[in-house]
Amino acid sequence: MKINTAKFVISNSDVDKCPQDKLPEYAFIGRSNVGKSSLINMMTNNKKLAKTSSTPGKTQLINHFIINDEWYLVDLPGYGYARTSKKTKKVFQKFITDYFVKRSQLVCAFVLVDSRHAPQKIDLEFMEWLGTNSIPFAIIFTKTDKLKKGEWDRNFKVYSSKMMETWAEMPEYFTTSSLHKTGAEEVLEYIDTINESLKTQS
Ligand code: GDP
Repeated sequence: MKINTAKFVISNSDVDKCPQDKLPEYAFIGRSNVGKSSLINMMTNNKKLAKTSSTPGKTQLINHFIINDEWYLVDLPGYGYARTSKKTKKVFQKFITDYFVKRSQLVCAFVLVDSRHAPQKIDLEFMEWLGTNSIPFAIIFTKTDKLKKGEWDRNFKVYSSKMMETWAEMPEYFTTSSLHKTGAEEVLEYIDTINESLKTQS
């Protein structure tokens, strides 16, 4: 898929205030610092669309971007960030779970996972939660440029065997590097294929 236009639409913390048209949408979520903003900016070929971790006061909101006037890319807040205040310690703010439960336009959630790390409890639990709530998801392993091929092969084996403890098969997955600009096309093709199949269904 070629991205012709990528425009910011709205940010909020209330799922009822998200765009009301019925365009298909795809959400991106993961632990803070996983490389989500860099991935979104790479995918949309726009260095500044999503705010990166280095942006001061990066807001923790549901951000809707419209792509090619056809579908929404949704940038969700990073989770699992260690904070001291008890009030903000909850890893999933209610508005995020609300978003997943209520947003019928959501076609697929992309769960971003740092390719360098061993499976993290918070990611595994989140994917189980998505499964329990019948929300389709795919995994995007980020920052693959930081690993040698052999290291990634080993990490992937560990990750997939961990997933197989819970799932009948390994979910759809992608590998990306925002530094080397790889993997975005595959994700966009996946989205395109789903969008096309939705059109023929309607
Ligand atoms: P976010 O908090 O998930 O939105 O993460 P960011 O996109 O802001 O990235 C967090 C840090 O990781 C930044 O310093 C990025 O430059 C770095 N980073 C993100 N993606 C990659 C990648 O694919 N490769 C490398 N080497 N660094 C990355």
